Amino acid sequence: MPDIPPSARFRTFLILGAPGSGKGTQGKVLGSIPRFHHLACGDVFRSLDTRTLLGQKFVEYSSRGELVPDDVTVQLWNANVKQRVDSHMFKPEIDFLVLDGIPRNVEQARFMEPHIEVLKVFHLSCPDRTELARRLRKRALKDNRFDDANETVIQNRFATYEAETKPILDYYAGDRIVDIDASQPPAKVLYDILAGVMTLDAWKEQEKMKI
Ligand code: AMP
Repeated sequence: MPDIPPSARFRTFLILGAPGSGKGTQGKVLGSIPRFHHLACGDVFRSLDTRTLLGQKFVEYSSRGELVPDDVTVQLWNANVKQRVDSHMFKPEIDFLVLDGIPRNVEQARFMEPHIEVLKVFHLSCPDRTELARRLRKRALKDNRFDDANETVIQNRFATYEAETKPILDYYAGDRIVDIDASQPPAKVLYDILAGVMTLDAWKEQEKMKI
């Protein structure tokens, strides 16, 4: 077993991209590979009981295409990740954490700094907003996503991404950022992500382990 103290920061990959860029799809596939643990912040929010105050807050903000306030979000994330560690779903000593949808702005990135060691940021880039909007409308029907069904909300989600989420790329600037063309087929996007993972020393160390 590797010698990592329990208090160490989680070895983390971030998947960043505009709504519809395929973060969730890639996160789920990566999370199905042994030693990768996927956590999607939006899924955690959607699993909340909408009768609770927090559940209502999520509906209030997401239905406008806005971000839920940072304090609530980071608290929820902390509690959720702790639960996963306590129940051994996520084993930080041997698993990489794959975060999708969080951090969503620089303030959240700062809050999370003591908890995550960001190894790579996979930026799923697709400047063609018409294509992204098409994907969102499709998803709205398939997955019953009320926040993707309405054109004004979709445009608001893009604007929120540009204004609040994209600056994260500057926050983590440097060779940690991997730009990936998100308009490619999902299998090719995954291929590019895995190629980025496999350049890392942390990956090479992990590869040698017999777990
Ligand atoms: P997603 O499933 O990632 O597209 O998220 C759906 C909605 O959940 C977003 O539009 C936000 O309203 C909310 N949400 C998800 N993650 C975050 C986050 N990290 N910070 C604030 N709001 C979030």
